[in-house]
Amino acid sequence: MAKTEFKAESKRLLEMMINSIYTQKEIFLRELISNASDAIDKLYYKALTDDNVTFDKDSYFIKVVPDKENRMLKIIDTGIGMTKEELETNLGTIAKSGSLSFKKETELKDGHDIIGQFGVGFYSAFMVADEVTVVSKALGSEEAYKWESEGAEGYTIVPCEKDSVGTEIFMKIKENTEDDTYDEFLEEYRLKAIIKKYSDFIRYPIKMDAAIK
Ligand code: ADP
Ligand code: MG
Repeated sequence: MAKTEFKAESKRLLEMMINSIYTQKEIFLRELISNASDAIDKLYYKALTDDNVTFDKDSYFIKVVPDKENRMLKIIDTGIGMTKEELETNLGTIAKSGSLSFKKETELKDGHDIIGQFGVGFYSAFMVADEVTVVSKALGSEEAYKWESEGAEGYTIVPCEKDSVGTEIFMKIKENTEDDTYDEFLEEYRLKAIIKKYSDFIRYPIKMDAAIK
């Protein structure tokens, strides 16, 4: 499977993330939960204007699933999902990101600043994961697609199976190094604390094994 290269600007940000220049790695969870919440919002607004789309409040949620044994962290949402084209444009180019378009060249060089003040978005997953897979099915679409990347090398998109509309993000959590440990991102109590710290205002339920808020 041939890999598509990231655009230059995305690649730089991605490299920053992979090298984890930022010490507060935990914010990746805030970013992914905020994207999940945005995706549910989009479905909600769609339902307001389109009679064919119903929004049953109880069946919309975000779920965080740690799997220590396989070093996998999964984030599931029942939002609007992404088509193949949307996976391509939204995850292939950081320029698309609302947050980063504000930023100038110089600020990009000093990662510290931007990450503290603004959301860096999806790519922050690469601060804690060395492989990220996004499985998504868009509202109104028959097909589902899988976007996969191990970072700087690029990404692939292939068709896959998914029954319901929404997105699932699988993160292969990094192995510990001499300087950094990542085990905490597979611990339920830590994940709960991070969610409480940054995502308390999210208006959809965030579930783990049991509902946590
Ligand atoms: P931002 O949220 O600032 O736009 P991100 O890098 O966080 O930037 O996300 C880029 C884009 O990818 C989003 O704008 C959205 O279109 C898409 N996206 C990311 N995660 C999801 C998701 N869980 N469901 C649907 N779309 C998503
Ligand atoms: Mg975002």
